[in-house]
Amino acid sequence: MAESIGNTGTGMKLHTKILLALLVGGIAGILANTQLGGDHAGVQWVNKYLAGPVGQVFLRMLFMIVMPLVFASIALGVAGLGDLGKMGRVGGKAIGYFFFSTLLAATFGLVLVNIFDPGSGLPEAVKTELLATYAADASAKVTAQEQGGFGINTFVNIVTRNPVKSAADGDMLGIIFFGLIFGAALTRLSPTVAKPMIDVLQALNDVVIVIVGFAMRLAPFGVAGLIFGVTSQFGFTLLKPLGGYVTVVLAALLLHLFVNLSLILRFIIGISPLTFFTKIKGAMVTAFSTSSSSATLPAALQAAQQNLGVPPKIAGFVLPLGSTMCMNGTSIFEGITVIFLCQVFGVDLSLGGMAIVVIMSVITAIGAAGVPGGSIPLLVGILAMMGVPGEGIAIVLGVDRILDMTRTMVNVSSDLSATVFVARSEGVWDASMVPKGPSVSA
Ligand code: ASP
Repeated sequence: MAESIGNTGTGMKLHTKILLALLVGGIAGILANTQLGGDHAGVQWVNKYLAGPVGQVFLRMLFMIVMPLVFASIALGVAGLGDLGKMGRVGGKAIGYFFFSTLLAATFGLVLVNIFDPGSGLPEAVKTELLATYAADASAKVTAQEQGGFGINTFVNIVTRNPVKSAADGDMLGIIFFGLIFGAALTRLSPTVAKPMIDVLQALNDVVIVIVGFAMRLAPFGVAGLIFGVTSQFGFTLLKPLGGYVTVVLAALLLHLFVNLSLILRFIIGISPLTFFTKIKGAMVTAFSTSSSSATLPAALQAAQQNLGVPPKIAGFVLPLGSTMCMNGTSIFEGITVIFLCQVFGVDLSLGGMAIVVIMSVITAIGAAGVPGGSIPLLVGILAMMGVPGEGIAIVLGVDRILDMTRTMVNVSSDLSATVFVARSEGVWDASMVPKGPSVSA
């Protein structure tokens, strides 16, 4: 088994360091933003030559190993399950959980945004200014949506034509599919013939975990750089006019995490929510700081296997799928944002319209890539469908990063809850198997 990524050898736990870095980078960025302004030459310099590069190196180290990790862990997971029937059953349970938890999340968000109605009070002048300020960004997203729209080809494209190209393009679903087929094929070979390949995959998996360890040593610096970039450029002035919207999104995300998911954990899965969240806090912090479910996958795998004690064949199979298909936070964000923008643009939705928003939020959350802002192009698609101009996304882009960080944290937590759900229902795990003592990982 690969070494743990949690110990930096200096006494202080890695996740404590990362939290500290979040705080220091965040406060420095807020000060830079409010005292000097985001476009001040010094602040720009720090972002361009210091904070930005350090943050990017950390993110790239994680992205660098995501594709081999997804491939190896899915193939091993499927091979470990032993037969295709089992794979179908475990996959079916996982996808069922992804779907229902995402549906619950989207519906919950929709109820909250309808109760608090944050869009109707947005002053006309603010709306015009935001549309103008973020017009360029928004039109890039609209183009991205037009090019990568959601349709039958979304599904056809899952069957990758070329796994190497998929890996190079960051096409996670293509790699997942290839890993599934590869693992399934391994189960058809006799154990002696399959063994050398399984050993190679296992070794690849272990090597990747060691590389994650290297990346995580950089994490405190990377995270400080990333958060400085966010807060120093953040539109704090937007917090006032968009405060209602931001509050509803954040409240819905946190309530879903700590109430809805906690109830599922306690009553359906049978684990104390406190234990669960304590064991996965490293992965949550990584998700929050990277805004990427994919980049968090290594930390999530480690949390599931080493901290929660979930067997690798289940975690290695369910988590890579979940990191791209199970996005509870994203569906909450999408539903609320669509309704908010409908309110802003005076589009009145019937109950049927609301139902379409929920369904589309679920489908697009399943289809969104686990990268920063991965859901935005798909969100533009729903807006257009509901009669809001796609460019209307401009109104929320200035505050999106903080929402992205929080929704990614919820996405990763929901992936991990799916993993324990499936492991429990397969009878291979229960809460008594959670290792006692301090957690490893970030
Ligand atoms: N950043 C999100 C994730 O990686 C996706 C999104 O909602 O934009 O999970």
